[in-house]
Amino acid sequence: MTMTFDSTRRAFQCRLLCGLGSAAAGTVFTSWPLAKAAETAPGLQVVATFSVLADIAREVGGTAVEVRALVGPNADAHVFEPTPSDVRRVAGADVVITNGLRFEGWIDRLISASGYRGPVVVASRGVAMRQLSGGADPHAWQDLANGMRYADNIRAALVAALAAKSPTRVADVETRAAAYRQHLAALDRDTRARIAALPAERRRVITSHDAFGYFAAAYGITFIAPRGWTTGSEPSAEAVARIVRQARDARASALLVENISDPRLIERIAREAGLKVGGELYSDALSPPGTEADTYLKMFEHNVRTLVEAMSVGTSGPASVHGGKP
Ligand SMILES: [Zn+2]
Repeated sequence: MTMTFDSTRRAFQCRLLCGLGSAAAGTVFTSWPLAKAAETAPGLQVVATFSVLADIAREVGGTAVEVRALVGPNADAHVFEPTPSDVRRVAGADVVITNGLRFEGWIDRLISASGYRGPVVVASRGVAMRQLSGGADPHAWQDLANGMRYADNIRAALVAALAAKSPTRVADVETRAAAYRQHLAALDRDTRARIAALPAERRRVITSHDAFGYFAAAYGITFIAPRGWTTGSEPSAEAVARIVRQARDARASALLVENISDPRLIERIAREAGLKVGGELYSDALSPPGTEADTYLKMFEHNVRTLVEAMSVGTSGPASVHGGKP
């Protein structure tokens, strides 16, 4: 990664000076124009490392924030390589939001390259970390209870940043965060009920990489994956052969592809095991704006619906596969 930072630093300093200039100018006005100015002022510049965090920040921040994701829809954060434009984005941010749990192996280098000195929020702070042999499993957002923790951490960071820059917007963020939390809690309850309605022996599925460990622990499904916690390595021939055997022995009820991974591996396993691919899950990224999984809530609902439908094949099926909007 080769980057030029002088122009970025200049832009950053300009932002700081411009901000100071308008704050000083504001002191000559009466309280009414000041309040008006605060409402129409540009929102906090928030940079989130990937699309799920960006969506949570938008839901919580509303008009008080302008959010950009470094790793966009359908893109894979495990193998992301920042560009000079990403450096500029981070340099111009008021708040940077990361997942943590070693999801973004590139973030420390990117932040130091940008010269950014503002708050770096670790959205997963406080979650019960799932341990793998090589360390932490980063995919904590796949449990909605953790998603609530993400929303709490993001709310706290936005409120702290707004308290200094635009305090009239704090109350709106608090209200939005409380409402959003209720949506997450409702979807969490709905997910538990829908999966619990399936026979335990049906709740085994195969996916490309080990992204659903938190989902598995929270909602009672076994996920089998030929790849480990990251997409950065190829699975061994033995791992693939083992999964084909497991699928063939009918110990898995469905195979599902992921939006961020090449589907050919799963298609090959399906072919060799004589099974059909049961749909696509959103693991590490949302879908593009305007499509089926373009928010964290919609992504989660899509995954639950796809899993329940795939695991219901050959059974009488759950009473309400499509029910229960959060
Ligand atoms: Zn992943």
